[in-house]
Amino acid sequence: MKRDIREDKKNRRCRICKTRQSIIRKYDLNVCRRCFKDIAEKLGFKKYD
Ligand SMILES: [Zn+2]
Repeated sequence: MKRDIREDKKNRRCRICKTRQSIIRKYDLNVCRRCFKDIAEKLGFKKYD
């Protein structure tokens, strides 16, 4: 399977809920703010909120 980086940018969405709003790419997570908050604890970003 060929992976196109440009396609990745075009289809920048939350990998969890697929929304296109408020996507956080800071940690290469590609998740929205809401989902980030959910996974933040698991990843150890407890100070985010
Ligand atoms: Zn999301």
